[in-house]
Amino acid sequence: MEQRPFSDASYNRFLGEDKLMGSRCRSCGATYVPPRPLCVKCFKSDMEWVEMKGKGKLAAFTCITIAPPFMIAQGYGRKHPYCSGVVDLDEGGRVDARIDGVDAAHPENIKVGMPMRVKFLHREGGEIPETYLAFEPA
Ligand SMILES: [Zn+2]
Repeated sequence: MEQRPFSDASYNRFLGEDKLMGSRCRSCGATYVPPRPLCVKCFKSDMEWVEMKGKGKLAAFTCITIAPPFMIAQGYGRKHPYCSGVVDLDEGGRVDARIDGVDAAHPENIKVGMPMRVKFLHREGGEIPETYLAFEPA
């Protein structure tokens, strides 16, 4: 695999290629998503890129009715809330993501611990196409 720095910029570039990537310590096997250049368990910096399967469990979520401007532009807001959450990946690592495929108007139906699978949301129309990490119920 092409060597890229273990940075947020690389992580975002991989998302644009529909890949959820983390870094794994060659010394102790600890996995970090988003990637870290240095292992905080053994303090070595011998890392390699690993692609996540994109499966995990919902660890926390919040349903947002007061949307930032770019989400309002996508049709979200008080009458059409969206869900944002944290997912614990099967391989280890914890990521922030949009939670898609759930009814954000009825958060009582969304359960912590639900199995989730990754989904890549592409936003067109800007100068640079952007990709958002999202998960939906598996
Ligand atoms: Zn390590």
